[in-house]
Amino acid sequence: MKIDSPINFSLESKKIIDNYNNNKSLHDTSYWSNDDIVKLKAEIKSYYKDKQKYTCVYCNKSIRVNHSAVWDIEHIVPKSTYPRFMFIPENLCVSCKDCNTIKNNKAVLINRSIVRYPMKSSSFSIIHPHFDNYFEHLDIYLGKIYSPKTLKGKNTIEACGLLRFSYESVGWDPSISQTTGLLESAQKLLNDPENAKFYAMEMLIKAQINSM
Ligand SMILES: [Zn+2]
Repeated sequence: MKIDSPINFSLESKKIIDNYNNNKSLHDTSYWSNDDIVKLKAEIKSYYKDKQKYTCVYCNKSIRVNHSAVWDIEHIVPKSTYPRFMFIPENLCVSCKDCNTIKNNKAVLINRSIVRYPMKSSSFSIIHPHFDNYFEHLDIYLGKIYSPKTLKGKNTIEACGLLRFSYESVGWDPSISQTTGLLESAQKLLNDPENAKFYAMEMLIKAQINSM
């Protein structure tokens, strides 16, 4: 998946955005909660949900739910650290709540002191949904095992916590103590040969990630 064209805002929204872009005093993450941009935000969400065919840009899960609470407007470069990029069409997309929450305000720019929004893939450390083809950077096996093909793929897996899908599939909570987790995992492996495949793949992927 790659977003082939960024949003072209309505005239009404363009006016709000022009005003924002020209007023540095407004450049603060709190502007996102401003009542004046409720419609503008709905426009962004609706456009990218359709454009992305209800697919999260980071985990590639398709969520066929229209309710806006399921989807988050995602600022690829975080609006908290770069409020001036808040309405750049190429910095916007939608993602699932989980990916958005985990990615949070992690840095994704290679050069953090840039002034203008970079319009090319190589300026970003993670998969950029407007500039990168998702599956050139990672593979998804059995719908839940994320395997990196490039450094961007690896960074995306880490930034958005994509290993959570393979953990969930085997019922392992990685936040519990390592030893307990490993013991439980080993026990499950012994009890359930079906899961052995997942563990083996997960170990391979971890080895792959560690060697990158
Ligand atoms: Zn997601």
